[in-house]
Amino acid sequence: MAFEGLTERLQNAMTKLRRKGKVSEADVREMMREVRLALLEADVNFKVVKEFVNKVSERAIGTEVLDSLSPGQQIIKIVNDELTELMGGETATINYSVKPPTVVMMVGLQGAGKTTTAGKIANYVRKNDNKRPLLVAADIYRPAAIQQLQTIGNQLDMPVFTLGDQVSPVEIAQKGIEEAVRTGRDLVLIDTAGRLHVDENLMTELSDIKKIAEPSEIFLVVDAMTGQDAVNVAKSFNEQLDVTGVVLTKLDGDTRGGAALSIRSVTGKPIKFVGQGEKLDALEPFHPDRMANRILGMGDMLTLIEKAQQDIDEKKAEEMAEKLRDNSFDFNDFIDQMDQVSNMGPLEDIIKMIPGMNNMPGLDQLQIDPKDTARMKAIVLSMTPKERENPDIISQSRRKRIAKGSGRPLVEVNRLIKQFNESKKMMNKMSNGNFQGMDNLFGN
Ligand code: GDP
Repeated sequence: MAFEGLTERLQNAMTKLRRKGKVSEADVREMMREVRLALLEADVNFKVVKEFVNKVSERAIGTEVLDSLSPGQQIIKIVNDELTELMGGETATINYSVKPPTVVMMVGLQGAGKTTTAGKIANYVRKNDNKRPLLVAADIYRPAAIQQLQTIGNQLDMPVFTLGDQVSPVEIAQKGIEEAVRTGRDLVLIDTAGRLHVDENLMTELSDIKKIAEPSEIFLVVDAMTGQDAVNVAKSFNEQLDVTGVVLTKLDGDTRGGAALSIRSVTGKPIKFVGQGEKLDALEPFHPDRMANRILGMGDMLTLIEKAQQDIDEKKAEEMAEKLRDNSFDFNDFIDQMDQVSNMGPLEDIIKMIPGMNNMPGLDQLQIDPKDTARMKAIVLSMTPKERENPDIISQSRRKRIAKGSGRPLVEVNRLIKQFNESKKMMNKMSNGNFQGMDNLFGN
């Protein structure tokens, strides 16, 4: 989980103040010393840390804060505001050109996630902005880069333009844009070559492509796991190419946070998206305010709600509610619901986005084993279609057969059916407007 250490240390630094009725200047200074260490340890650029600490201290020591009724809360709000500001303040979106096609150039070092991100962005703009993208394979050096983009194109059912690896990348970019015009594609994503280090040949080639392609966006893809290196890479790419935005990948990993917090300040360019996994839908727009909340352990309800809206089919949800109301919810619906929730990602990550949940003792040990859901599914799939539709007919002998068929012990089958019946009863009550008995949900 990203930012874990940073969140914990910032929370520790702030909890002391939160409890105090009156806060002195010395208290603020002590807290800021801890915040400073927390940020440095999270690999945030030292100049950025210095500026941040000065700004927060200045605001926090202002008399109106220290004399206010809840100085601790006010200071936490200031830290939150300034973290948001540090990451760019506003959410930055994609600039589309007035005259299509919009050209987007993807640049970055090898392994940062450029090719994958090209696919993710194509997928994102098609889904959210109704765009019709064309992917252009202009990395002719890395073995299999072209093939990788073609595989992504196949997965997304999206066209990929290639001229093989014997034609210059500049020519590929140019012909790719012509192809987009010819075939009515309104967005071109050019996947360019990376190297292991920033080098002159690479920059010359990218500048040449930029001249010909006149992109509306140059997205620099950087790996969040590389911390300060990511920031240095961003700095040199930006100096050479004047990029328009950054995509920070691998934020699903164990990153400390340095890159997310330093890039905007060091390069002046906004982070536009973050990569949250290897799958092609694991891309989210970057919202500085929500990220600040997340870093401070205050949860990120908005992203959670958006995720649920995106991943849970509204029509299905309505059907499900209907079934609950007329009591016809069966084991087929149960499986359907389980699949929809698991599409949202690992449950432990989802839970952490709920405000306050980050502070729950023991949450770091919480592991929801995907095998548990797989086992429940195995049990349901061993029922006959009739049993799934009419759980009431599942007699003891049928239960034994199901246990045998699914390879699970009989007690587990019994438990699942009992849980199913209980949740059905409770959900039925709730969908009819009766919220009493909801405590059962949490096992009280
Ligand atoms: P390129 O050399 O910059 O084109 O990098 P690739 O697109 O080939 O990505 C390198 C590796 O990083 C691949 O294994 C990707 O699946 C992986 N990757 C890319 N983005 C993410 C991300 O957001 N999270 C995780 N966990 N892996 C990612």
